[in-house]
Amino acid sequence: MKKTRKKFRRRIAESLLVGITVTLLISELLAAFLLPSSWVGFSEDLPKMSQAPTYLHDIAPALTSAQMSFPANPATSEPLLHGLNVGMDVINYSYGAGFFDPNFAPWDPSVSDSPSFVSLTRFRFGWPFRALYWDDLSTGTSVAIPAVWDYHLKMYERAGIDRGIGVSYISPGRRLPIAPIWTGLFFNILFWSVAWYVPFMLRRIAIRFRAKRRVRLGLCADCGYTIDEFSMCPECGVEAGVEA
Ligand SMILES: [Zn+2]
Repeated sequence: MKKTRKKFRRRIAESLLVGITVTLLISELLAAFLLPSSWVGFSEDLPKMSQAPTYLHDIAPALTSAQMSFPANPATSEPLLHGLNVGMDVINYSYGAGFFDPNFAPWDPSVSDSPSFVSLTRFRFGWPFRALYWDDLSTGTSVAIPAVWDYHLKMYERAGIDRGIGVSYISPGRRLPIAPIWTGLFFNILFWSVAWYVPFMLRRIAIRFRAKRRVRLGLCADCGYTIDEFSMCPECGVEAGVEA
């Protein structure tokens, strides 16, 4: 009994470890390989707006819109795999008057110290839920202008290394995400741990079921040899009537 409990505990720990590994690995692989050049998007309403990142709150204009996009098939411009969950999405948060706003005007640092527009694009990866992300920050103004570059550095510093600023590129436009989305991480780890654990559980149930049936038929629970009147199995030595 004690041995079974120890085995059970080890199996749980192993499942958890598998869950964590698979969750992280899938997010990184998606980030490394699934970044098509085209997207299908739709406007998001308040729920996503209220989840908007706040780390630029005192250096950027006020949040004006949030737009969600999904990978598209570049050939057809239709959602990739007909909109099935491919493990990636992109949320673009606009602070101030964006490109599509009639009030949009490129930032002229000689006129104003702060930009009229900041875009924060969050690339989120993970399956079945998004678990890790990195952010892309832009003012829509050329960073060749020293004042603009200074402002960008300030934004990158706010974002920090964990949001992907400064994390080395695998290839242009691709980065490995390390910033966590806690709910997604939690449920993905749960999902993959259970997925790993269930086959073992089913096998255990099947073995127990078979043992019970063998004992009922007067066979050895362990190997199925006929025991009849013996007190232990003549084939493998297991005690008669014991269900493995
Ligand atoms: Zn036996």
